[in-house]
Amino acid sequence: EIRVRFAPSPTGPLHIGGVRTALYNYLFARKHGGKMLLRIEDTDQNRFVPGAEDYIVESLKWVGIEIDEGLTAGGPHAPYRQSERKAIYREHAERLVAEGKAYYAFDTAEELDAMRKRMEEANAPSAQYNSITRLQMKNSLTLQPEEVMALIESGAPYVIRLKVPRKEDIRLNDLIRGWVVVHSSQIDDKVLLKSDGMPTYHLANIVDDHMMGITHVIRGEEWLPSAPLHVLLYRFLGWESTMPQFAHLPLLLKPDGNGKLSKRDADLGGFPVFPLQWTDPFTGAVARGFREDGYLPEALVNFLAFLGWNPGTEQEMFTMDELIQAFSLEQIHKAGARFDIQKAKWFNHEYLRQQPNEQLAETIAAQATTDGFDCSLEKAAKIAGLLKERVNFAGEIYAESAIFFREPQSYDQAVASSKWNDDAVRALTAFKDALTSVEEPLTAEAAKTTLADALTAIGIKQGKIMQALRLAITGVGAGPDLMITLEIIGKQATIDRLQKALT
Ligand code: GLU
Repeated sequence: EIRVRFAPSPTGPLHIGGVRTALYNYLFARKHGGKMLLRIEDTDQNRFVPGAEDYIVESLKWVGIEIDEGLTAGGPHAPYRQSERKAIYREHAERLVAEGKAYYAFDTAEELDAMRKRMEEANAPSAQYNSITRLQMKNSLTLQPEEVMALIESGAPYVIRLKVPRKEDIRLNDLIRGWVVVHSSQIDDKVLLKSDGMPTYHLANIVDDHMMGITHVIRGEEWLPSAPLHVLLYRFLGWESTMPQFAHLPLLLKPDGNGKLSKRDADLGGFPVFPLQWTDPFTGAVARGFREDGYLPEALVNFLAFLGWNPGTEQEMFTMDELIQAFSLEQIHKAGARFDIQKAKWFNHEYLRQQPNEQLAETIAAQATTDGFDCSLEKAAKIAGLLKERVNFAGEIYAESAIFFREPQSYDQAVASSKWNDDAVRALTAFKDALTSVEEPLTAEAAKTTLADALTAIGIKQGKIMQALRLAITGVGAGPDLMITLEIIGKQATIDRLQKALT
C-alpha cells in the first residue's frame, strides 16, 4: 500500500508552496488508492507559533485535501505530533550510540565557537563538526567512558551527534531528479538529539517515516540537500531495505522568474502567498490569503497542480477528481515553476463562470442591501448571470452593478457627441411610449420586440441608435447585454431613465 505524508512545521502560516506539496502527496495517494497522513513536526520549540497548527488544518480543509490518518484523523501510529513522541526518538538515538554510530557531545557554545574560529584561521575548507574535528572536541569518542558517565550523571548538557563516515559516496535515486551522489565529507556530524531532549528534524523525520510505513517522501526541493543524510540515517538505523522513495518537487519562482518565491513576496508583489489570511500572533500584522482575496478553492487547486506538473495534453481545467486520474510523478518537471498570479486569476475566472447564479446571488444582494438598495435574490441572480463572465472574482460583480440600482449619474460625453442625434431622440421617444403599454414585469424578450416594432414603425435602423439607448440607460457606451439589463432594472426604471435622458 502506498503511504505518503504531509509533515509541516507549525512555524507560521502555511506557505503556498507547502499547499502544493500537500496537494501532490494527496493526488498521488488517491491515484494509487493509498493513504495520506498528516504529521506535525514541532520539535523546534524556539520556532513554535501559536495558531499555526490550526491554520494548517483549516487550510487543507478549505482546499479540499482530505487526511486519512494523522493529526486530525487519528490512526494506529498516534500521536502524530512529534513533540508528543520524544521518548521514541531518544530510544533510537541511544541505540545508535550503543552501536557506535552516534556519540554524546558535551561541547559548550563557547567551545564550538572557538573550534569554528580555529578552523577559519587555519583556512580549513569547512568549519564543521566532522570526522576530523570531532577528535579535538569533548565527546564520548575522545573522553574515557567513566568521564562520560560522570558528566551525564552530573546533569551536564549534551547532544547526540551522528558519526558520519569520512570517505564514502552516498547515493540516492530521486524519482524526479534522478541519481544524486554526495560525498560524506560534505556532511557534518549532525545533531540528532538536542540538549533539551528534543530530536532534530532529521532524526524525528526518519524515525517517523519508518514507523509510520511511509513509502514515498514527496517534498520541496529545499530538502534535497538533506536527503543524503537521511539515506545514511536509514542505513545506520538498519532500515535501508524499507527506505521510502524520494521525490523532490521543483522550486516555486517569483512571478518574474528571478529567484525563489518567498513569504515576503506577497507584500512586494501585491498577491497572496498563503491559502488563508493570517494574523501574526506576535505583531498583529495581517497577511493576505487566497480565500479572502476571493479565490475559489477549485481554482487554487487547479492553479497549484500546474506549478511543476503538466498532464501532457492541452487540457487546463481539472477538477480534483480529474487531477487524481491524470496525476503522475513522472510528469513533474525538474525546472522551477514560475508563480504567475495572472494564471491564478484566469483559473478563478473560469471557475466563477461555472458557479450557479443563485449561489452568487446572496453576496450580491447582501452588498446591495448594505448600500441601501432594494435587491431581491432573484434580481441578484440575474445580475450574477449577466456579469460573472466579465470579472475574475465574485466580489467584483457587485462593484460592476451600479447601473442596476440607480440611474446614470452622468453621461459619457464622447459617446453622446457621436451618437446622440435627432434619430436617436425620435427612436428613444418611440420606444419609451411603446413601453408604457407593455405588460409587467418587463422581460428581455418583450423589450426586444417592443424596440424592434417601435423602430420599424418610424423607419429607423436599430444599429444606428443602440449606443444612444445604452447611453440613456447606463450612462456609458459599452456594457453587458442591454435587453437583459432592461429586464433587471424593470419597466418603470427603463421609462424613467429614457425620460431623464430625453429632457
Ligand atoms: N517539517 C518539514 C517541513 O516543514 C518536512 C520536510 C519533509 O517533508 O521531510 O517542510
